[in-house]
Amino acid sequence: MRERDDAGVGSVTAPYDIAVIGGGPGGYVAAVYAARQGARVVLVEKDTPGGTCLNRGCIPTKALIRTTEVYKMMQEAVRYGCRAEKVEVNFKRAMARKDRVVKGLVKGVETLLAKHEVTVVPGLGRLVDKETVAVKSGDGEEMLLKARHIILATGSEPVVLPIPGSASEAVIDSTQALELDELPETMVIIGGGVIGMEFAFIFARLGVKVTVIEYLDQILPPVDEDLAQEVFRSARMAGIQIYTQARVTAITEGEGGQAAVVFENAATGEALPELTADKVLMAVGRRPHLEGLGAVEIGVELDANGRGIKVNERMQTNIENIYAIGDVTAKMMLAHAASHQGLVAVDNILGRDTLMDYSAVPNAIFTDPEIASVGVAEKDAAAGNLNVRVGRFPFAANGKALTLGNSRGFVKLITEADTGVIIGGSIVGPGATDLIGEITLAVQHRLTAEQVARTIHAHPTLPEAIFEAAWAAESGALHLAE
Ligand code: NAD
Repeated sequence: MRERDDAGVGSVTAPYDIAVIGGGPGGYVAAVYAARQGARVVLVEKDTPGGTCLNRGCIPTKALIRTTEVYKMMQEAVRYGCRAEKVEVNFKRAMARKDRVVKGLVKGVETLLAKHEVTVVPGLGRLVDKETVAVKSGDGEEMLLKARHIILATGSEPVVLPIPGSASEAVIDSTQALELDELPETMVIIGGGVIGMEFAFIFARLGVKVTVIEYLDQILPPVDEDLAQEVFRSARMAGIQIYTQARVTAITEGEGGQAAVVFENAATGEALPELTADKVLMAVGRRPHLEGLGAVEIGVELDANGRGIKVNERMQTNIENIYAIGDVTAKMMLAHAASHQGLVAVDNILGRDTLMDYSAVPNAIFTDPEIASVGVAEKDAAAGNLNVRVGRFPFAANGKALTLGNSRGFVKLITEADTGVIIGGSIVGPGATDLIGEITLAVQHRLTAEQVARTIHAHPTLPEAIFEAAWAAESGALHLAE
């Protein structure tokens, strides 16, 4: 049985069972899960618990997206037989609401940690040796914590392009975009990936003139082209200008605090007309946060690219009692992947042999329409010469989607041709990020399309589109005349 001892703070302590460095969705979930099983856990966090996801990522962006959805619905009220006049957004209030949502959830995490008797030590954690963590608090004081096991969960930070002008005042990252006091009139977003496109829709829907510059020949490069195309079309309709296959080479300071973005065709090197904007949002990826952690200094190895901390399937580093989870491993920069990696690390620390499996990690992109996917994508199946069947169903033939007035997009299921087992699926359209749960369950538990097709789905609902896609992969969709 664990004995609680808060006296550790401020001195070298009796060893904790586990010290977790970083309180994001990886670290805090690991801490709570371990404490729940009787381990004596200390969590070191330099900021507010909840990490990037809760404080500067998933949650605040989704709160703002909600504002844009309400605004759009009111602007389109007449389509639904309603009248809404003089509809406008109060940006400051929308931002204040976002902050309240975040604050409420942070409180929830703090309560969770306290209820499970996790000792939270505020400050910057640094590995001194494989069982000692030095924590530097805001006032410069340093204390040492001893632990039998250590979990590194320090997350990631935005990448800054190594081009002239990156440090200009008008250039912001996603954290600063969430702290703006007022809406800019114009914005250039460098990077048409997940962060770039989510922000493009947020700002464009709020009335900002947005231009996206993407290096590759498609926005949202990892997803299938047919899904990305739906979002591309919708972005154009929302007034977002998009340049693909374009490389930014410099940012220069313009008049009145504006910036001019110099860019070129990435294939030919031909210069494209400069773009001037009030703000330039850089969203060209994130990199593991290793600075000041002392991991490399004590011999923790990095992966082959030298980016993230190298871990095995148990989330263990090359040093037996040190584990790493979440973005700092650069495996899959997703909050829910980090949390799951945390469970795997704790299981192994507590003597349960558990392996991390990446074959059914859902991906959710909150553009308009949303995109969600899990498992094998159609393009992966083609690249790997897999013998698959593709079952597809459009939301245009789904009753609920039509009643919502939101029937763009489709569901796509990928099954093994010989067994019918669902190995992947993607959705673009209404509720995609919620709907992916059903396909994730199917992929994780190797359900067949027939099993999904023989499961009664409530009518009229959006999940019927998955049911129909399962029929499409088998003998043909019930509600498609093909
Ligand atoms: P990303 O890798 O998804 O996208 C970066 C984009 O920038 C890419 O499309 C890349 O081709 C482009 N790019 C790179 N250099 C460029 C240049 N010089 N000029 C123009 N374009 C350039 O990275 P992100 O959007 O910054 O997100 C970072 C991480 O955070 C990702 O791993 C992402 O999965 C994760 N994240 C996920 C979600 C979600 O799942 N909803 C939301 C936010 C962030």
